[in-house]
Amino acid sequence: MRKINRIFTQSDSDSFVAHMCARAECDLRGPETWERDLLAALAWIAQETHVVHTWSPERLRENVSITLPAIPGLWDRPRVLLAPAAAADPVSQAAVIAHECQHVYQLRHRYVDSLWPAPLAYIYLYGTSDEARAASEAEASGCDVAVDAWLTGRDPNAIASERLASLEGAGYGHLGVGDLKLAADLMRSYAATVGSGISPPMRSAHEAMDWLKNNGLFS
Ligand SMILES: [Zn+2]
Repeated sequence: MRKINRIFTQSDSDSFVAHMCARAECDLRGPETWERDLLAALAWIAQETHVVHTWSPERLRENVSITLPAIPGLWDRPRVLLAPAAAADPVSQAAVIAHECQHVYQLRHRYVDSLWPAPLAYIYLYGTSDEARAASEAEASGCDVAVDAWLTGRDPNAIASERLASLEGAGYGHLGVGDLKLAADLMRSYAATVGSGISPPMRSAHEAMDWLKNNGLFS
């Protein structure tokens, strides 16, 4: 498996994040922003009214990074809201950004043949189809597994198992057994690709690998 040949510093991580967001044409918002406060308030309302399953407001505030689509009149590019936990160390930050940037690519490109605008079709299917949500999260998680494995030298399969445990928890919209298996099969396949020394077939993972090569972290 490939791994980097020097320490990945906070300054490396910040440059990586800036590059990934520039390539994905999205904006990054840190943990202390009004958008996070608004999402936590919405999660509290959802929890109290039982209208939809969602993360608890506490979990959302601390642990959940999230990508919002462009909203005409409010902001014109997708926004990645970084969770405090994601900004805790250079590797976590880089892995989470690779994950969220893949969601940005999905938003823009996944349903370009739909009768609806692609981002709207993506959001609708993400919200209503367990299969679509499982496949989207497996792809995005494949990107963060790759970056984590490249930066730490850890076994990508072991990292994928950690991510799957999180998918099986409360965090991802209560996927059924079949859709969890779909996510698991996809993630095992991406982890095997990372283990064989190449990038899994997602744009964000390709961009991440290019950055690591161009900045002397891969020999
Ligand atoms: Zn995700």
